[in-house]
Amino acid sequence: MKILIAGGGIGGLTLAGFLQRNDIQFELAERAPAWAPVGAGIALAFNPMRLLRELGVADHVEAAGHAFTRGVISKADGQPISDADLSDLAARRGPTIALHRAALHDALLTAISPDAISLGQGVEQVAEKSEGVEATFANGATSNYDLVVGADGINSAVRSSMWTDVDRRYSGYTCWRLVVDQASGVNEPWEMWGRGRRFGVVPIGPKRTYCFSTLNAPPNSDAMRNIGLKRFREMFANFGGAVPGVLAALQHDDDLIHGDLEEVRLQSWVNGRVVLLGDAAHAMTPNMGQGAAMAIEDAYVLAEELASDQPIDAALSAYQSRRMPRVEAIQRQSWNFGRIGQWESGLACALRSTLFRLVPASAATKRLEAMLAAPI
Ligand SMILES: Cc1cc2nc3c(=O)[nH]c(=O)nc-3n(C[C@H](O)[C@H](O)[C@H](O)COP(=O)(O)OP(=O)(O)OC[C@H]3O[C@@H](n4cnc5c(N)ncnc54)[C@H](O)[C@@H]3O)c2cc1C
Repeated sequence: MKILIAGGGIGGLTLAGFLQRNDIQFELAERAPAWAPVGAGIALAFNPMRLLRELGVADHVEAAGHAFTRGVISKADGQPISDADLSDLAARRGPTIALHRAALHDALLTAISPDAISLGQGVEQVAEKSEGVEATFANGATSNYDLVVGADGINSAVRSSMWTDVDRRYSGYTCWRLVVDQASGVNEPWEMWGRGRRFGVVPIGPKRTYCFSTLNAPPNSDAMRNIGLKRFREMFANFGGAVPGVLAALQHDDDLIHGDLEEVRLQSWVNGRVVLLGDAAHAMTPNMGQGAAMAIEDAYVLAEELASDQPIDAALSAYQSRRMPRVEAIQRQSWNFGRIGQWESGLACALRSTLFRLVPASAATKRLEAMLAAPI
């Protein structure tokens, strides 16, 4: 079986690692000429951590990151409305780890033979031919495969080549991510909810803090893309907690990594001998911190099905049936949670604070645990 993995992000690298463990040959083509993972920090809950342990890279991830024992949601001024003690959950299921994305890539790369990876090798398009799936690369070269896996992210070229019916929607809010030297007082993840905007701080190892912020805004806005530090600081000027320290620590406009938050839904992730995983198949809003987790689970399940004794088509179909209902439920929950987080009217925000104070954080944690611990 000749397999091409298009994209060496979190999903593509995890798939490569699991295929290698199962002695299945593959080639991985990554568009970027060198590893320079876009983004800032990332949190990995116990569900992907369990799989990364199976892959043999969890120790690297834990050593590079920070384990949570608590998660707080507060009003913009820093007054908590939900304060979850996660220590029991961590003891039962294992910790949630937050780390820099570059460190996660480094950890995943330890599970893959470098010979299988081609950097600077963008996949332009794929097409089904009688002799297999033909992939055309950015340098004009073509090659045929028995199976192509599109792990090439939300703007997937593999998906564009073979899928026409793509439901891609903008969430209504845009996002900036950044990393600063450790902000004082940030020992646990803390998300502050204002009116139509949020600011989150997450420790990622001993010396650094990852932050994300959102704002209700029109899609694809040049004003948001080129916001600049001055305007960015003004937007979050009335936030308390660690935010003033973070805003003061920013030095350059390009410390801010901007992107609109969108979702992708498809009727099917399989088209002949081409299959999608991760954001290419089902990009989701980041409100549950589960996008990469789902890409890692996809990779695990796809490798398991490909390694079992069955025809490729049956393996692809089993992959989709095992993954789609779970991913769609988490995607939906993330979308709904984000909408509440982005409420703008003063009355709605006051109601939101009251409701969050009334529901014990332990009940929300139990519900989340049940969802994430379900067998995959
Ligand atoms: C603000 C924000 C915060 C988030 N926080 C979390 C979190 O805390 N926890 C979590 O689990 N998830 C989180 N996510 C989601 C997570 O980042 C994504 O779901 C995850 O990165 C998807 O992995 P992927 O491998 O599918 O795609 P990507 O990470 O996008 O990787 C795609 C790869 O393919 C390459 N590529 C692209 N096009 C081509 C091509 N044509 N040919 C070859 N290679 C190509 C790219 O260079 C890249 O390396 C967050 C997302 C956002 C936006």
